[in-house]
Amino acid sequence: MYLYPKINLHIHSNYSDGKQTINQIVKRALNLGLDYIAITDHFTNSWKSWVSTLSNHEMISNYLVEISQTQRYLKKNDRQLKLLKGIELDLGSSEQFIKKFIQIDKYDLVLFEYLQSYESIAFLKNIINFWKKSIENLNNFPILGLAHFDPSFFISGNLDTFMNFLKDYYIYFEFNSSYPSFYSPQYIIFFEKLKEYNIPVGIGCDSHNLSNLNDIEEPFEMIVYYNLENNLDILIKTLKTKKLV
Ligand SMILES: [Zn+2]
Repeated sequence: MYLYPKINLHIHSNYSDGKQTINQIVKRALNLGLDYIAITDHFTNSWKSWVSTLSNHEMISNYLVEISQTQRYLKKNDRQLKLLKGIELDLGSSEQFIKKFIQIDKYDLVLFEYLQSYESIAFLKNIINFWKKSIENLNNFPILGLAHFDPSFFISGNLDTFMNFLKDYYIYFEFNSSYPSFYSPQYIIFFEKLKEYNIPVGIGCDSHNLSNLNDIEEPFEMIVYYNLENNLDILIKTLKTKKLV
């Protein structure tokens, strides 16, 4: 066993396409001895929006209230588990849709999926800058991460530009156990760059049911394989000090 905290920052509940309720997920996470988990249900109005998603104010509000209640329960009962209020935002969504529904200081963590082009980087920068201007206290700004990011879209381009973007906007790379090909050694150049630039890395299982809630061993081993323990430490420090909203 390793001494690192057990982290799964990518879990779907029945608020989107996950099978279980938030309560069922948290109960199991407590039994498994996980230290940090995030519920990150889908948010999209792209072609993908046929999956059930957080798509209107009422649903989003219920979602946030339910996670807040669970956070309070965990705190009151002095449980070791820290639960983050997350969302997984599809970058194929329209700017207007994102700006309308995402009140950024209501979240502890935002994952972005489908960052696959330099155009989508420009899109994302624009959104993040908008969010930063929209809140009064930047301490309430969430942790940002790339969900199941596929290095193949950028590996032949200018990786330094890409790394500078992650560094400037403090965005972590997720080792996602549901997409092991995205951390395979064919992308070693990419992982060497993450190390060189001190980009934080995290672990998520993309859990849609309870069976893979604890599939964190392989991602962790790959982090060690690429000598990215310090990069994981950066994220862990952030998780430790993060005041939940
Ligand atoms: Zn997901």
